[in-house]
Amino acid sequence: MKGGRRKLIISFHDLHPGSWECCRRFLERCRSYGANALSLLLVPRYHGQPPFTENRAFVRWLNKVSDRGYEICLHGYYHKAENISGGFKERMVAKYYTNREGEFYQLSTKTAQQRVSDGLHLLNQAKLPVYGFTAPAWLISDAARQVLIESGFLYHTLWGRVELLQAGSSVPASTLVYSSRSVPHRAISRAWIPFFHRRNRKASILRLAVHPSDFRYRAVEDRIYALLEEALQTRTPSTYLDLIPEASRRPVGTAADHTR
Ligand SMILES: [Zn+2]
Repeated sequence: MKGGRRKLIISFHDLHPGSWECCRRFLERCRSYGANALSLLLVPRYHGQPPFTENRAFVRWLNKVSDRGYEICLHGYYHKAENISGGFKERMVAKYYTNREGEFYQLSTKTAQQRVSDGLHLLNQAKLPVYGFTAPAWLISDAARQVLIESGFLYHTLWGRVELLQAGSSVPASTLVYSSRSVPHRAISRAWIPFFHRRNRKASILRLAVHPSDFRYRAVEDRIYALLEEALQTRTPSTYLDLIPEASRRPVGTAADHTR
């Protein structure tokens, strides 16, 4: 692959023991298209389930793929938002736009510190290096964003850009993502995504985000692979970590553990 080529950052969201098999199949298929670099967005205790570290086979697999160059990115702690507050707009966003999955959307400093610290503690236990964070539904409170900076995260991602937190800059990076939640969502995605892909053809960084729920629908799955194949003709498969200069790639420590 040529270094100057445009990048395609492929990310698998909501990875936890329950979506492991789906992720494995996706990675295999990506490999068949020559894509051997992906960002895997791990949820330490998806929807309040036991910590992922309790599944030893899953941890072994994560270590294996991490050693092979796949990047593990922290993706919330529980993923689900248990408390929703605020005015009409905030409630609409939290309940309907995110389907109550925007865990970090309204978090206070104290709760964000605790969740980030607990997540890092589990990743540390599993000996998995982590460099970045993606908030569930790409929504994050200012307080939680500040916690990420202070904890040493190198980046966090939003829908349209990636913020390089320690460098204090951001890079535009549009995301192709299907909404598989309902029939109308899927119909809109089918119409919108090819158009959006064409519009972003020349962008130096493009992202393809997939969720385990996408693979419940054959039509969505087929379109994801068609899109992937097309994008890879002109783009190099990359991870979020590839956006960070090599000299600055230090994994996030567990300094936040002081809150424990
Ligand atoms: Zn998610």
